[in-house]
Amino acid sequence: MLYYHFKDINRRLRIGKIICLARTYRKHAEEMNSKVTEKPLLFLKPTSSVIFDNQNIILPRQSNLVHHEVELGVVIGRRGKDIKREDAGDYILGYLLGLDITARDLQDEAKKNGWPWSISKGFDTFCPISKVVLKEKIDDPYNLDLILKVNNEIRQFSNTRYLIYSIEEIIEFVSSIMTLEQGDLILTGTPEGVAPLRDGDIVEAKLGNICSLKLKVVST
Ligand code: MG
Repeated sequence: MLYYHFKDINRRLRIGKIICLARTYRKHAEEMNSKVTEKPLLFLKPTSSVIFDNQNIILPRQSNLVHHEVELGVVIGRRGKDIKREDAGDYILGYLLGLDITARDLQDEAKKNGWPWSISKGFDTFCPISKVVLKEKIDDPYNLDLILKVNNEIRQFSNTRYLIYSIEEIIEFVSSIMTLEQGDLILTGTPEGVAPLRDGDIVEAKLGNICSLKLKVVST
């Protein structure tokens, strides 16, 4: 079983399902030549894809084009179904920095054929996550820089203020479909600047000054 790591406190919480959103930053949708959808676009990542700080992202042999995506993660603190946006804050335990690593070539093939994204998003090590910071420690989740560097070069630099949907709207939408449970994680989507990862790369990412990740990329 896999448990979150918390910042500054000792707490045991099992990692539940990982719900991801796509096309939630306009500039990223544009760089992918994708339309921003009317409702959030969802997919799931398996918990087996989770790794933590200082571990390795492994490039799978099935793909020749693996991209990084840096994202704000929302950790759910209590079970709920059909949560209203005005109550959504009560269901948030905290936030983390997550990477939605993506086999872009396999995703492009899936998009072309109308197939699901599970393969391109689901490989082992494709979901690095930082420690969880409790929501009480964060002044404003809508003003956090999202930064990702590869080999010390900035690739992604945006801010959560550019999210198209509010976190409350996202919780309302997701919980209208599936019950949210304690320990579930919502990755809210990536801003622009996604780019390939190569064997030997060092990836460093930050969410404001509250969460960080450092990972190495290795091939199989
Ligand atoms: Mg993503």
